[in-house]
Amino acid sequence: MIPSIETIDLFQLASGDRLAIQVYKFVGAQPGAKVYIQANLHGCEIVGNAVVHQLIEYLSDVDKGAIAGEIWLVPTCNPLGTNQRGHFYATGGFHSYSGEDWNRIFWEYEPTVDELSQFVDKHLGSDEAEIIQAYRGQILAAFEKELAKQNHPCGVSVPEYFRGKLQCLCLDADYVIDIHSSSNDGLDFVYYFPNRETQASWFNFDYSILLTQGGDYAFDEAFIWPWIVLEKAFAETGQKIKLAVDGCTLELGSGMKMRPSSVAKGLASIKNYLAHRGILSAEIPEATTTKCLPSGNITRYRATVGGMIGDRLPLGQAVKAGEKLYDILSFNRQGKLPKVTTINSMVDGIVFDLAISESANQGEYVMSVLETN
Ligand SMILES: [Zn+2]
Repeated sequence: MIPSIETIDLFQLASGDRLAIQVYKFVGAQPGAKVYIQANLHGCEIVGNAVVHQLIEYLSDVDKGAIAGEIWLVPTCNPLGTNQRGHFYATGGFHSYSGEDWNRIFWEYEPTVDELSQFVDKHLGSDEAEIIQAYRGQILAAFEKELAKQNHPCGVSVPEYFRGKLQCLCLDADYVIDIHSSSNDGLDFVYYFPNRETQASWFNFDYSILLTQGGDYAFDEAFIWPWIVLEKAFAETGQKIKLAVDGCTLELGSGMKMRPSSVAKGLASIKNYLAHRGILSAEIPEATTTKCLPSGNITRYRATVGGMIGDRLPLGQAVKAGEKLYDILSFNRQGKLPKVTTINSMVDGIVFDLAISESANQGEYVMSVLETN
């Protein structure tokens, strides 16, 4: 089927130019859920654009009858970030003007304790579709008030204009998928949220990492956390509900790269997820085992002394506690010979992520290990 394509104005630059994003909408013959998928929120993490392109090609060959619901795709969703450079390097993970991380800026519906308990009291015994519709109504009403601030003479910041446009597209969705990569060199995996382990397994990655705390205002979190808070409030009254609403982030490989294996995995994972959700009629491959681990199992190693990083274990390598991860070669200004310091792993695990730079000031990031036990 042919998608409808909508161009959405973001904001105007000092030069007079205007930035925009483009949404590719595949609306199926059958009614159903809405899934929103975006790529390249962090300017240097470009891999999702290739995944979205392949999804557009795939869905363009699919009959309208094979889709129930709507699939919205937004590649290069942050043009300001995508286009930002410092010499050879894409530096658009952060807004250059304010220093804000582009994935920590989003508006989140945060009901008060009273608002939440009133909602739960009113909807005890309601079916899940009714609960979703009513709560979504509350979220959208609160978001309208937030958006109204953009019309005030005092204006809002660039990230606030930007988030308003993206969240207008996704807050009424049922499922939100944000495609990122490491800004460095990383493995392919999914970040998921409480009560959604089975859904995370539909992506068929080797590893699924559970995020258990909100408050970061990341894109997926700002979407899903209000729903998890609601599920928790119902659970406290004894009514256990699992709402068909989901938000997650795919992490596909390395910054500034579109590693073919990561693109292929990303495409297959999303197709599989959409098939499980009943949005796409497609063959569901045999499930692979995904290891679900909490994000607390990731240890980020930062240089304990300043120097040059050498003899570092490669990405994906298994390591035991006490085995060497890397060496740091340090020079000095004390008239002494250079010194090599060896850093060993604190846990049994795998090498999860590697800093691109092989030089580090004391305290700078070198690598991550995922504890797998
Ligand atoms: Zn990212």
